[in-house]
Amino acid sequence: MHPIVPETTKTMKPATLNLEGLPEITLIPSRGRHKTISLRIHDNGRVALRFPARMNIRHAVGFIRSKTKWLEKKLTAFRLASQTQEAKGFFEGKPILYLGRLFPLCLDLTQQEKGGAGQLVFTGEKFILPAHLKDAAERLFLCWYKKAASNILMPAVKHYGAMMRVIPKNIRISSARSRWGSCSSRDTLSFSWRIAFLPQDIIDYIVVHELTHLTHKNHSRAFWDTVGNFIGDYRTKNKWLRNHHACGPV
Ligand SMILES: [Zn+2]
Repeated sequence: MHPIVPETTKTMKPATLNLEGLPEITLIPSRGRHKTISLRIHDNGRVALRFPARMNIRHAVGFIRSKTKWLEKKLTAFRLASQTQEAKGFFEGKPILYLGRLFPLCLDLTQQEKGGAGQLVFTGEKFILPAHLKDAAERLFLCWYKKAASNILMPAVKHYGAMMRVIPKNIRISSARSRWGSCSSRDTLSFSWRIAFLPQDIIDYIVVHELTHLTHKNHSRAFWDTVGNFIGDYRTKNKWLRNHHACGPV
């Protein structure tokens, strides 16, 4: 991480802090007797750090660093809760949710000059979008997520299917908002492309859950026993899903 640290906190103007993988953090030095340091995520997704004005900025940065995991978790929850807002406004540095982590969006201004059509690219560290395609960003991201979901799900279904000795008739990538996955009476598994927002271990749980429905078309004891054979801590994962999104049972 390479934070851009403001030189001093003695000025009254709120400065901002940029830590890689996290959105811009507004620094609010508080005067007077206020001695506590706190990190807050506002309804609009902006993150603000309130801290005593006399505090050394390095302490403030250290505090944020110690809270990175917590912040990522909170922001993930925030993104999941505001998926409809997710598509609005593709600005430089916008945190994009993928596999349970936030990656910054970089708008590439050079590609148009090169004359290429350009496309949305994920480098493993950031998303690069040619700036002239910004208006099409929503469509491009949708397309990207659908492909990503398929690339994540197909090997996972194959892997766990082989272990569990079950083969679905068909696998569909849906746009469902209300459920992450489902299993039809005809043994077709459907997964929402939104699954690409989730951490890999949670996706694995959802895959095993749906594969188990090929044998058990219910949530009986036998069903959960089978899930438990392949995902030991499925209860934690189920709870995580309930806490992170009102998606209902998979
Ligand atoms: Zn189920």
